[in-house]
Amino acid sequence: MLISLIVPCYNEEEAMPLFYKEASRVAAEMKTSHGADFEFIFVDDGSRDGTLRVARELHAQDDRVRYVSFSRNFGKEAGIYAGLQAARGDYVATMDADLQDPPALLPQMLDTLLTGAYDCAATRRTTRKGEPPLRSWFARKFYQIINKMSDTEIVDGARDFRLMSRKMTDAVLSMAEYNRFSKGIFSWVGFKTKWFDYENIERVA
Ligand code: UDP
Ligand code: MG
Repeated sequence: MLISLIVPCYNEEEAMPLFYKEASRVAAEMKTSHGADFEFIFVDDGSRDGTLRVARELHAQDDRVRYVSFSRNFGKEAGIYAGLQAARGDYVATMDADLQDPPALLPQMLDTLLTGAYDCAATRRTTRKGEPPLRSWFARKFYQIINKMSDTEIVDGARDFRLMSRKMTDAVLSMAEYNRFSKGIFSWVGFKTKWFDYENIERVA
């Protein structure tokens, strides 16, 4: 069983080694508990710092680490799509480099998929603690308005941190549109999703 972790990175040279350390710790645990193997796919989204250098260094010391590097900054959505295309896992997770998406949740998320009752384990945060109030206000308004306009439910507080089956991953990949909105696509493709709640965590670096 192979699990792919897709990590879009824009100027994350400080966060990446911390992410790698924590993800490796969880991967070792899950090798024992679930017999799971991992690949880590860092997508350098045209970073201006040493993100690509760090990706190369991690790849040189650990062959589970792979990377994609963009010619310029295309945005997180493009990074997620490129990562999904590169992923070879039976289960595929998308997560941020700054540890706001805790790898420690992965064992529970995998357990959920292994029951066979779900194709997706998704996360949402229950608080916006630590976020500037104006940003929270606009975020809440965004969810109110989009859910009035759209038939596809966009869950307030939903993060892009998910673990998906290969079946659902392939469905998401089959949508090759240019201006991507992953939260909408994840919901639009259907499949049974179980939600995990957690409190907001501030970025690690
Ligand atoms: N990111 C990216 N391209 C961008 C902006 C962000 O790949 O143009 C990545 C970033 O490195 C991080 C994730 O997307 O891994 C979420 O970004 P950030 O932490 O800035 O967003 P927030 O947590 O504030 O929503
Ligand atoms: Mg963040």
